[in-house]
Amino acid sequence: MSDMKLGRPTVKVCLLLSAVLGAMATLYYVFEQKRTVPVPTLAYKWECLDILRRTERMHPLLVEDHLKYAQPSITNGRQDIVAVTPWLAPIVWEGTFDSSLMDSIYKPQNITISTTVFAVGKYIRFLRDFLVTAEQHFFVGYRVNYYVFTDKPEDVPTVSMANDRKLNVVLVPSSKRWQEISARRMKLIQTLIEEKLLNNVDYIFCLDVDSKFHGHWGAETLGHLVAVIHPGYYSGDRSLFTYERRSTSRAFIAEGEGDFYYCGGAFGGSLKGVHTLASTCQDNFEADAAVGIEAAWQEESHLNRYMWINKPTKVLSPEYLWQDFKSKTPELKIIRFSGVVKNYAEIRPNA
Ligand code: UDP
Ligand code: MN
Repeated sequence: MSDMKLGRPTVKVCLLLSAVLGAMATLYYVFEQKRTVPVPTLAYKWECLDILRRTERMHPLLVEDHLKYAQPSITNGRQDIVAVTPWLAPIVWEGTFDSSLMDSIYKPQNITISTTVFAVGKYIRFLRDFLVTAEQHFFVGYRVNYYVFTDKPEDVPTVSMANDRKLNVVLVPSSKRWQEISARRMKLIQTLIEEKLLNNVDYIFCLDVDSKFHGHWGAETLGHLVAVIHPGYYSGDRSLFTYERRSTSRAFIAEGEGDFYYCGGAFGGSLKGVHTLASTCQDNFEADAAVGIEAAWQEESHLNRYMWINKPTKVLSPEYLWQDFKSKTPELKIIRFSGVVKNYAEIRPNA
C-alpha cells in the first residue's frame, strides 16, 4: 500500500514530463522541417515535372496494337529534299511522315498545346483570320490554348472554337516602335510559361499573327526544341544569311558559321525547351541593350544564335512558314502556314 502511495505522484510526474518532452520534440521537428524544406524554385518544379512525365510516358512513341498503315521504307522516298540534319534531327517535309500514324501516337497522350500570338496596335486586324484558319488546320482534334497578347482586348474577335480549345487574352502595353514589340515577345513568353503554364501544358508554339494556315499542322511538329527554316533563305549559301555579324553582340554568328536561317515568326517545343530559349534570348537581348546594341533582326537574330548552339531537335521545312508574295517552288508540295502581304509603312507604328 505505502509503495503504491509513494509511486502515484512519481508516475504522474513521469507522465507529465514525457508529455512535455514529446510536445517539445514534435514542435522542434515541425519547425526544423519548415526551416529546411526548400521553397520550390523553378528548377525544382522542372525536375518534378520531368519525373512525372518520364514515369507517365515510359515509351513516348507507343502506338495501338495492330494499327494498319503504309509500309515505311529506308530506300524509297523523296529525292528532292533533305529530311535529316547533320545532327540527326528530322526535317519535316510533306511525304516524310504519316499523319494518322502520328495521331495514333500522340492523341492517346492527351497533350495540351499552348500557342502564343502577339496582336499589338494595328496587327489586331490579322487575328481573326489567324484564329479561324488555325481552327481549320492547327492541331485539329487536340487541346489547344491560344494566348493572345494585345493592347486592344476590346478588339479581339469572337471566333467559334472546337471543344477543348480556348482563347486567353493577355493585356500588354502599346509601343511606338515595332522593334520593341517584337523584342518584348521573349520576355512575355518566358513570364507566361513561369506564371501560367508550368503545370498544365506539354508543348508551346509561338507564331506571328500576320499569317494564315492553309494546310495541316499537327503532331509531326512536336519536339523538345522546334525551329522553322525561313522561306527566304533555305537554298542559298550561309554567307547570305542575315545573322548578326557584329562580334560585340551576343547574337553574333561569324562568316562560315551557322546551320540554317530560322525564322522568328514560328518556333516552339516543350515547355522547358521554349522557356530556356526565351529566357536566354531575353538575357542576351538585355546584355546587348546595356551596351547600346540592337541585333540586326532583334529576337530573330538571338533565336538564330541560340538554335546554332542549342541544335533544334526537330526542324520544320518552309512549308511551315511561307510568304504569300513568294511563288511556290517545286520542292514545296504544300503550304501549311504563310505570312500575308502587308504594307509595312501603313501597319507598323514606325516604318
Ligand atoms: N507585332 C505586333 N504589332 C506590331 C509589330 C509586330 O503585334 O506593331 C507582332 C506580330 O505578332 C507580328 C510579329 O510581332 O506578327 C512580328 O512582326 P512582323 O510580322 O511585322 O515581322 P515580319 O514577319 O514582317 O518580319
Ligand atoms: Mn510576320
